[in-house]
Amino acid sequence: QEETRQQEEFVFRSKLPDIYIPNHLPLHQYCFENISEFSSRPCVINGSTGEIFTYADVEITARKVAGGLHKLGVKKGDVIMLLLQNCPEFVFGFLGASFLGAVSTTANPLCTPAEIEKQARASIARIIVTQSAFSEKVRKYGEENDVKIMVIDSPVPEGCLHFSELTQADENGMPEVEIHPDDVVALPYSSGTTGLPKGVMLTHKSLVTSVAQQVDGENPNLYFHSDDVILCVLPLFHIYSLNSVLLCALRVGAAILIMQKFEINRLLELVQNHKVTILPVVPPIVLAIAKSPGIDMYDLSSIRTAMSGAAPLGKELEDTVRSKLPKAVLGQGYGMTEAGPVLAMCLAFAKDPTDVKSGSCGTVVRNAELRIVDPDTGASLPRNQPGEICIRGSQIMKGYLNDPEATKNTIDRDGWLHTGDIGYVDNDDEIFIVDRLKELIKYKGFQVAPAELEGMLINHPSISDAAVVAQKDEAAGEVPVAFVVRSNGSQISEEEIKQYISKQVVFYKRISKIFFVDSIPKLPSGKILRKELRARVANGIAN
Ligand code: AMP
Repeated sequence: QEETRQQEEFVFRSKLPDIYIPNHLPLHQYCFENISEFSSRPCVINGSTGEIFTYADVEITARKVAGGLHKLGVKKGDVIMLLLQNCPEFVFGFLGASFLGAVSTTANPLCTPAEIEKQARASIARIIVTQSAFSEKVRKYGEENDVKIMVIDSPVPEGCLHFSELTQADENGMPEVEIHPDDVVALPYSSGTTGLPKGVMLTHKSLVTSVAQQVDGENPNLYFHSDDVILCVLPLFHIYSLNSVLLCALRVGAAILIMQKFEINRLLELVQNHKVTILPVVPPIVLAIAKSPGIDMYDLSSIRTAMSGAAPLGKELEDTVRSKLPKAVLGQGYGMTEAGPVLAMCLAFAKDPTDVKSGSCGTVVRNAELRIVDPDTGASLPRNQPGEICIRGSQIMKGYLNDPEATKNTIDRDGWLHTGDIGYVDNDDEIFIVDRLKELIKYKGFQVAPAELEGMLINHPSISDAAVVAQKDEAAGEVPVAFVVRSNGSQISEEEIKQYISKQVVFYKRISKIFFVDSIPKLPSGKILRKELRARVANGIAN
């Protein structure tokens, strides 16, 4: 009897019933499955120019891109890199690659050349699609490695091709390819629970399942309708925007209003002018909306849903923004790149819109199972007890590219993906995240992998050891701070170290504070005691 009790399993499922998910279909086919119902309606609206592409335009253009990529020698399974700010070409490139059975790896164009090169090399990208403003970052790498660089705008730098070579290709030039549900279609990079950024293999099946979990089925009020106008301001190179904004919108036939990059007044203007109904955001944008002095000058009454994800949203902020958008439901979603990415979402959209619990990041998506696991014993925990959040279902990643060890450490033998997040499920099935077990730092929702910064710090001849942890920050959520042990006799200053790092990394990975210490606390195994360091920072006793 004792044994039976020990083995008791607590598995949480959605309150909604499971649905049929056609995840045998290739992703593009699934997204366009119902296109005949809305082929002449706006699909992509370029927020910068006002240009509108209908569903029919987008599908044909994606086919042409597939034909054009084929002509350039891209084959099934090959990787192309989308190094773009939000723009219609991102949509065409991603879908075109999908039609061809190719893979898109997405990257932030503000990254440094070294960061981009690392990803391009690791993923063996054959083509890099970018903007002329960023082409210089990859020109040398392209020349030396026979990687074609395509730009979507002008001027076309010497040696580069223009993206119109793809969009003007023959739409019948696409070869017949057989796509298997387990073929990879997207390869975003994420550091997961530990170590350096890794390629996250998301298959056609993962993404079809994830999109269906969000927008298919008998609960049409849940998120998107075909008459919605969805603001796409979150960067499409992050899987949150690619999946929960772009792909979900395509599936239901909604209009996607593309904003190249975030700027608060421009956002408010676009919402007003295009009568945006759905506003997917991250906490820093919620903060900007809450604090915007000009907000009352705009008519934002069209917004029916504001959905925040990628990082925790504080209660105060939630309340402030609710008062600014009284007609909208504000809810949270919870995702992790490796989970496809959506684990949970606010269900209040489907029932009483006023019934959103503060701090909850939603309930588990359907056709999936969730467990809360005691990190010390591995036992599953009942309601209201915090532990590591684990998820299982067809939406999770296939694994990390060329890294079976990291895959094994993240997805266990029974198929559970370990998130490294600590949370609990309450009596109403709502999930609350209370802590993070993993190393990851999130600056405005962007990932900062401590291991990457620690590697750079330790490489410096004047530094003998280092550890990087998060410090809470009102505007960014978290910022990276470093504990540094100077080498014998070194007098290296905080400013010198900060500059040394800044030269090598994108802005959100810059170290905000250095604490000089005599040693880094570690376990005998060498594992850094990050919790202790985080507590020291939080309590102001870091030095
Ligand atoms: P990424 O893979 O970049 O999407 O980062 C995933 C991580 O972001 C999760 O494992 C969480 O630590 C954090 N995260 C995502 N959504 C939320 C949320 N709603 N509340 C708190 N943390 C979140």
